[in-house]
Amino acid sequence: MKSFEMIHLGGEHCVTGSCHLVQTNGINLLVDCGTTQGSDQALPIDAWPVKPSQIDFLFLSHAHIDHVGRIPELIRKGFKGEILTTHPTKNLLLPMLEDAMALGNPEEKEAASLLRTIDEFSWGFEYGQAFNLRKGVRFSFYQAGHILGSSFIFFESEFPRNSILFSGDLGCKHTPLVPNPDPPPSCDLLILESTYGDKTHETRERRIEALGKVLAHALSDGGKVFIPAFALGRTQEVLYDLDRLFSDRFYQKQFPELTVRGGIPVVLDSPLGMKLTKIALSLSEYWDNEAKGLLDYGDKPMDFDHLYVAESHKAHMRLLDHPGPLVVIAGSGMCTGGRIIDHLKIGIEDPKNDIIFVGYNARGTPGREIQEAATQKKGYVTLDGKKCRLQAGVHTLSGYSAHADQKELMEWVKLMPDKPRSIKLVHGEPSAQKTLASELSRQGYKVEC
Ligand SMILES: [Zn+2]
Repeated sequence: MKSFEMIHLGGEHCVTGSCHLVQTNGINLLVDCGTTQGSDQALPIDAWPVKPSQIDFLFLSHAHIDHVGRIPELIRKGFKGEILTTHPTKNLLLPMLEDAMALGNPEEKEAASLLRTIDEFSWGFEYGQAFNLRKGVRFSFYQAGHILGSSFIFFESEFPRNSILFSGDLGCKHTPLVPNPDPPPSCDLLILESTYGDKTHETRERRIEALGKVLAHALSDGGKVFIPAFALGRTQEVLYDLDRLFSDRFYQKQFPELTVRGGIPVVLDSPLGMKLTKIALSLSEYWDNEAKGLLDYGDKPMDFDHLYVAESHKAHMRLLDHPGPLVVIAGSGMCTGGRIIDHLKIGIEDPKNDIIFVGYNARGTPGREIQEAATQKKGYVTLDGKKCRLQAGVHTLSGYSAHADQKELMEWVKLMPDKPRSIKLVHGEPSAQKTLASELSRQGYKVEC
């Protein structure tokens, strides 16, 4: 007998807008409530089968905006329940939502009151412990290894005995800042992400060298390098590896051109990225061992002498005219808006410049358009309504992905002591889901896309 009913409200066949409704023992609970990007679609809240006021709990797997961005709208539409997540995600949640709301231009007063409400409604929990929710339903957060604070969430009901596990966004092993994903407990139903269900990433050891190589080559002609990056996650990972490239003797010898004249200047053109990096620095107890080791050794990860921050809009405008060689890290990661667009509008037509992608670009986003245009001889992209000829070099470093690839997803599922009764794939484009589904079925799993 089933005790969990599930309805996918967003992110079922795409990688943004994650939102799932679970009904059990008279409780309505939501797992994630994220914004969509590009051409991805989510069901409007008014069309949901339950009203926001009828939702008792909202669980958050992590603080990326495609998993939490609709919380202000949910509250505006009557949600009065509790928001449950891990301690680090609770720390990262408010700055993420504050920034997202500033883009939507609500009244400052309304935004402040919504943020206060979200703060009052939300609770942080430790990893790896089971907590009672209500009516014989228990939940636990486990380390998902995707970004700081990320979790996969396990729900268990006693009567009738049944369990469901949401993978959330599942990370990779061997990332320096974020611990490896925990092994999953056995469950009846597994809701599994499939972003890279059809891909294999470079290894972590090779990613730092790949970054060093691309940078050394790209900067040799005095051009600029643009790195579009999510303010939370990729920005800290890139800063961490840049710090290694500049400070570690091994890499200094391998890429001497990066440390000439005191080092290539790197500008973090993102006030949110800076704010989140500071929070990430304060959460060192949740870091992986490699980063903790550096700290013990007296090296502050994610920080070096020639790292600058463009805090104000004025500083950002000045930076646009600044000559290379220069590395600029700015959001948004998929180039759907934010300061990176100003840089690209000016810099994308200059063959001396380079763009390095370190994250996923969803369908219909300018980031994806740039990647596709790079495969054509005379590619054009539209940025902020302006048609630009793509002349800059375009590179994609898959080793920076925050998502497990097909092999890692398979390995993680196989760690379950017993096979789940069924697996439902979400959070992936149809082609990735199909490939992962056939690989899982080949290994004897019952799987549904
Ligand atoms: Zn994520």
